[in-house]
Amino acid sequence: MPVPITFLVDDSCPLIHVYRFHKEEVHGSPPYTDDGRLLLDSIPNEFLDRFCDVVERHGIAGKFSIIPAPAGRGDILSGIEDYHPSVTREWMDTAKRRLSERFDFCPEMITHNLTADLSTGGYFDEGESTWSQKQDRRTLTPYLTKALEYLKAADIDATGVTSPWTFAMAVEDEYIHAIVAAQQAVYNRKLSWYFLYTLHDKPASKPWIAFQEGDTTLISIPSTVDDFWWQTIDSPRSDPEFVDGIADKIITKDGSRGKVREVLDAGGWPILLTHWQSLFSNGLETGLAVLDEVGKRINKVLAEAVEWKTCSELSRLICDSNPPHKG
Ligand SMILES: [Zn+2]
Repeated sequence: MPVPITFLVDDSCPLIHVYRFHKEEVHGSPPYTDDGRLLLDSIPNEFLDRFCDVVERHGIAGKFSIIPAPAGRGDILSGIEDYHPSVTREWMDTAKRRLSERFDFCPEMITHNLTADLSTGGYFDEGESTWSQKQDRRTLTPYLTKALEYLKAADIDATGVTSPWTFAMAVEDEYIHAIVAAQQAVYNRKLSWYFLYTLHDKPASKPWIAFQEGDTTLISIPSTVDDFWWQTIDSPRSDPEFVDGIADKIITKDGSRGKVREVLDAGGWPILLTHWQSLFSNGLETGLAVLDEVGKRINKVLAEAVEWKTCSELSRLICDSNPPHKG
């Protein structure tokens, strides 16, 4: 049996280069790359087209976040600030048309930036992750419900949720109950998943059942392969040697080394994490070139060993291999 392999894309959303805004507004750092280039404000729709070309070419599957109100600058329903609403609509249509089949969609909370004040429509002066650590299910459930409602209203089936940074890790049991309740309320869904843990130092890891009660199950899907793409944000290089060197950290051309190999050898499931900004590489798209190379290598040298799966498919596999106890 081939081992499931999955690709997690965080921070994706229409137009907004969300990393640029949370770097400045949540972390208080100047919006520059480490080598001193100004981070771009937006990511053009054509980048999504080119991303879809790459994942389709290699049959890559996984999950694709859609931040509903990215950085608090407009939203996926009414459109992103400073752009005609048709540009946002076009991005959403492309994502649905080209990614639905082999990617799960999910919100990554509401703004991935400052916390939305649901009672006023404004924002608190605190990032979503910091805010979340002091909440309980009574406040987290409406927040998650709002995030899912945005996607549902955009005709997106959001099968799980992604946690920005370590969202609600300090109150995880409350968070788990909130996810279950929000999925039930918005989609009437009984089996769902969430991404919170990065277990890059525990290569033997697989997803696990975080909650099970009656016919309701929540699966925790951790990443096991670090975001090696990230370094492309902070480098002006995009030459083939640079691309190959990063791909080697994930899987070498002969399949004998790299983090994916380490996870397979340890008996874990390779769950690769990246970010929209890591693929965009501040406009150079070096990360996307790395993904193209990694996709090619995996199909060439690991075709028998692994099989691309969505997060829903991983959840179903975990459920089926752990039947609920009877009696
Ligand atoms: Zn994120």
